[in-house]
Amino acid sequence: MPEVPSRITAVEVTLLDLPLLRPHRFAVTTMRTQGVLLIRVVTEDGVAGWGEGVVPGGPWWGGESVEGMAALIDRHLAPAVVGQDVLQPEAVARRLERLAAGAPFARAGVEMAVWDAAGRTLGVPVHQLLGGPHRDRVPVTWAVGSEPAEIVVDEVRRLVAEGRHRSFKLKMGAIPPEADVSRVVAIAEALDGAAPLAVDLNGAWDEYAARRWLPVLDDAGVQLVEQPLPAASVAGLARLRERSGLAIMADESLRTAADALRLVAGHAVDLLAVKIGKSGGLAAVQRIASIADAAGVGCYGGTAIETSLGTAASAHLFCATAAVRCGTELFGPLLLADDIATEPVTYAAGDLLLTTGPGFGITVDGDKVEKYRRR
Ligand SMILES: [Mg+2]
Repeated sequence: MPEVPSRITAVEVTLLDLPLLRPHRFAVTTMRTQGVLLIRVVTEDGVAGWGEGVVPGGPWWGGESVEGMAALIDRHLAPAVVGQDVLQPEAVARRLERLAAGAPFARAGVEMAVWDAAGRTLGVPVHQLLGGPHRDRVPVTWAVGSEPAEIVVDEVRRLVAEGRHRSFKLKMGAIPPEADVSRVVAIAEALDGAAPLAVDLNGAWDEYAARRWLPVLDDAGVQLVEQPLPAASVAGLARLRERSGLAIMADESLRTAADALRLVAGHAVDLLAVKIGKSGGLAAVQRIASIADAAGVGCYGGTAIETSLGTAASAHLFCATAAVRCGTELFGPLLLADDIATEPVTYAAGDLLLTTGPGFGITVDGDKVEKYRRR
């Protein structure tokens, strides 16, 4: 370990647009390309660390966008990070939190680059800095967009037959509840138990719709519902949980550790969806996971659809965090038609494998960065 601090000397951002294999439909928007803000942190020892700022298809999720993040980091976050010790990523994260509380995705991207640079400075993988791995691979659920039933059934059948995924999450909320539920029931019946199914409403329903329709999804064999109600409806989630046999997972309702505390104290959830971006970084997710652990609630590792870089960062965090014991949806690199890594992350039999090199173990490919750089 270096005896003197290694100061961060520069933080640089590059905006990229990566193609998707197929459009990905959410309740409110359809993603056709994924904007990626690549963040590079350089230290006085000449070490470079990389981070990734992404949001799922635009500002609808939390108000941040890659364009906004680029300006915020450049003008406000970078000057606060330059001069800091690269071996204190959590201290850097807390400094950023004070500067830009409402911009967790931007903060997470910068913090990610600092963790990567810290690992590279010490020559160890980031999972070691986070307490060491509990597992060396994580199951990956495939998320299917809000497409018509036949398209979804074909996609799921093909992925199961190819041994690529063992569980599936269906996006809902893009069409009225009755038609949406018929669509999902048709999918569940066609698949006939071939793979566990979850649905994600992205907060699209009100409590009445959820009371009316969740039992139908339950009867059709759906096992889990993610964020049926809007983010603020913690008491509503608790009431649904009392009545429903479906496992209830919070995503939009969970951003901060204080949210996690409210959700578990209010008996509102069976599972918490944790993501590096929405909570402002790896250290913040570990605080949330500690609360989940204490409450006996499991965590599920979510994605904002990252390249291999952000996906590897999530894998290091989720493997090093015991409470993330309910699988992941780290499928970002599988939905992207190309990647920015010289060697993308590896999947095997429905699992994502933990990378082992220093930092996050990902080398950014300069040619790819040049190719996809926004002009
Ligand atoms: Mg979600």
